[in-house]
Amino acid sequence: MEMSAPQTTTSKPIKPRSVSVLGSTGSIGCNTLDLIARNLEHFSVVALTGNQNVQLLAEQARIFRPELVVVATESSYMDLKKELSGTNIRIAAGDQALEEAANLNSDLVMAGIVGIAGLKPTITAIRRGATVALANKECLVCAGNLLFNELNKYGGTILPVDSEHNAIFQVFDFKQSDTVEKLILTASGGPFRETPIDKMARITPTEAIAHPNWDMGAKISVDSATMMNKGLELIEAFYLFPINEDQIEILVHPQSVIHSMVAYTDGSVLAQLGTPDMRTPISYALNWPRRLETPSPQLDLVKIASLTFEAPDFKRFPALTLAKESLSARGAAPTVLNAANEIAVEYFLDHKIGFLDIVKIVGQTLNKQSFKDPATIEEVDTIDKEARIIARELVSSITSVI
Ligand code: NAD
Ligand code: MG
Repeated sequence: MEMSAPQTTTSKPIKPRSVSVLGSTGSIGCNTLDLIARNLEHFSVVALTGNQNVQLLAEQARIFRPELVVVATESSYMDLKKELSGTNIRIAAGDQALEEAANLNSDLVMAGIVGIAGLKPTITAIRRGATVALANKECLVCAGNLLFNELNKYGGTILPVDSEHNAIFQVFDFKQSDTVEKLILTASGGPFRETPIDKMARITPTEAIAHPNWDMGAKISVDSATMMNKGLELIEAFYLFPINEDQIEILVHPQSVIHSMVAYTDGSVLAQLGTPDMRTPISYALNWPRRLETPSPQLDLVKIASLTFEAPDFKRFPALTLAKESLSARGAAPTVLNAANEIAVEYFLDHKIGFLDIVKIVGQTLNKQSFKDPATIEEVDTIDKEARIIARELVSSITSVI
């Protein structure tokens, strides 16, 4: 039997790694830059992109000195230009420019844009054979098959950043995937796991955004509150790992200490644990296949004392059923699920619809759609746009009743 010395895993990259951060002003983006700032001798920044927070984007650019800074909103171009006057940093605006940022030569692209807005830049990075640290789960939900076709064609790598998928990635035996019995995706259950059902209709955006364990952007926080996030993650897991859909189980674990598990046919269950701090999975992707020291506090299991588990409540959280059904249906359904959810969350955050309306709108949009299976990214784009129109019409029927 061949034995080899254990790999040194707790060191910095051998040669500095160049990184482009798409969505640098968001929660994932800021955590990524925090880790890079702590390891400036080992990472360099090639491109940064943001959407609305021009000041933060400019501040990041002044610190990290990328080649290119892109603001997605074209009308913010002049503001960004003013903020960065006197520097030699190239700036650009708009969707094409986002793709240009993804296309610049860097070792790794952090895909940290929220929503389907991140799909085209992510595809661009994949098509140049880059290593993509994928936080943007909506990409996989909308176009999982197409994205992996491109990945296989161009020979790049996807490293999962979402904490559950990153956990599974760390313990999944890719050489013996036939010995995997199931994936166990853990879920905190969000802030409303125990809220009396008759009070759920009145949940406000502020309450929905206040996640008990994780500090994240507004959209994913609302998704966690409806548990649509876990539904999206179920679809994400299906595309990321070589398993069947009926091999993915959701387990509610309110402490968010076990980030997910892989059960093997011999009865072994391997898990990855840690304090709920996204810098751990982000660091794993940034420095893969080596580990990187992070400021994330070490897990104190004596202090935590007990870890609890329960089955997900599909009645309270119908988003889980919608996601499962969309995955089974394949074709356009996951794209429609995601588009309708993005619209409904946007309107909820804008106080235009109630909390329970979010999933209602998603369900009704799915019922109304009859799109054919998308064969290209352009077709995904068209389905996404048309599903948004349906969802908006449904929203206006609700708001006219209110
Ligand atoms: P966020 O809202 O904090 O940040 C989103 C980023 O995307 C910002 O930089 C914003 O400027 C940019 N952006 C928004 N709309 C855009 C558009 N139309 N065009 C271009 N850029 C746009 O979101 P986040 O919490 O950092 O989440 C980012 C992604 O990572 C999401 O897909 C989310 O599901 C996933 N994720 C996040 C976390 C987390 O801890 N925050 C954990 C797991 C997965
Ligand atoms: Mg997650």
